[in-house]
Amino acid sequence: MEKINLASIPTKIEKAQFLTTLLSKNIFIKRDDYTGIEFSGNKIRKLEYLLKEAKDSGCTSVITTGGLQSNHCRATVAACVKIGLKPHILLRKSQEVINQGNLLLDKIFDAKIHFCTPEEYRDNRDQIMITIAQDSISNGEKMYIIPEGGSNALGSMGYYDAMKEIVKQEKENNISFDTIVVAVGSGGTYSGLYSANMVNNYKKRVVGYAVCDDSLYFTKKISLINDNLSHYLKLDTPIDNNLIEIYDNYKGVGYALNTQEELELIKYIAKNQGLILDPVYTIKAMNGLIDMIKKGHFENSQNILFIHTGGLYGIFSKGDEFQF
Ligand SMILES: *Cc1c(COP(=O)(O)O)cnc(C)c1O
Repeated sequence: MEKINLASIPTKIEKAQFLTTLLSKNIFIKRDDYTGIEFSGNKIRKLEYLLKEAKDSGCTSVITTGGLQSNHCRATVAACVKIGLKPHILLRKSQEVINQGNLLLDKIFDAKIHFCTPEEYRDNRDQIMITIAQDSISNGEKMYIIPEGGSNALGSMGYYDAMKEIVKQEKENNISFDTIVVAVGSGGTYSGLYSANMVNNYKKRVVGYAVCDDSLYFTKKISLINDNLSHYLKLDTPIDNNLIEIYDNYKGVGYALNTQEELELIKYIAKNQGLILDPVYTIKAMNGLIDMIKKGHFENSQNILFIHTGGLYGIFSKGDEFQF
């Protein structure tokens, strides 16, 4: 499988000294928030594969979907513009539309924005994208459809590669991570990391923290992506899905919603560790990791690698929720 090179990779891995002292475990952060200013975050690794297929199939435009402040949509928009595809995005209009954060960037990049209600998003988003793609034919466009989060087998190749990148960095730096921790929103990132771990027998524990839906939903969804990936990779035996480990008890009050405790944790980590986590994904995963270490659920882990999947722009639409 081929890809287009867009992301600034390999991304660096840093030791988080404050968290290491706090938790009595070696905590490292892989800075996938550094994949590029416009592309920042995890989605660009998936898009390198997806947009290659879009280009190769002669498409002139792309449509994808997400929340109003979707990092995935913003990264898709930025990448499309860069390689000469017209970006369309279908956004879930859950609240008042304010030109901030990712949405502001979508507009600056001149994306064609379509809105739908939360109900339409839940029940019909794929069908709505298909309709938009069909309508676009009359404008002379050929549209490539990317599912929510870019989470299909092709997209997850981005994190299949990222796991190999991590192992290469382990060798270069003479360190071994026994545990990988990541936030889960549509499953593709986890799927790629998990699959590479299983196929190459790296023997790491891969832990995911759901920010929406629940463990069962993601275990099924990720298993399906892994099954498709097994076909893609022409594996003799399909990827074993029995070690998928997703927790759903740290998603808090809901997707893209925050408790005051979560916002305080963002501030606490910022002022002590010099690291900004995002309010939608990484703070929930970090909250889960800290709590579960304290409760003894990481007894066998010594060197933990937390993937910082980005999302910085999402913080700017939440300025009024922070208390100072
Ligand atoms: C999308 C996203 C995730 C989750 O990745 P999935 O592949 O959708 O599970 C995590 N963190 C950030 C910042 C994201 O934008």
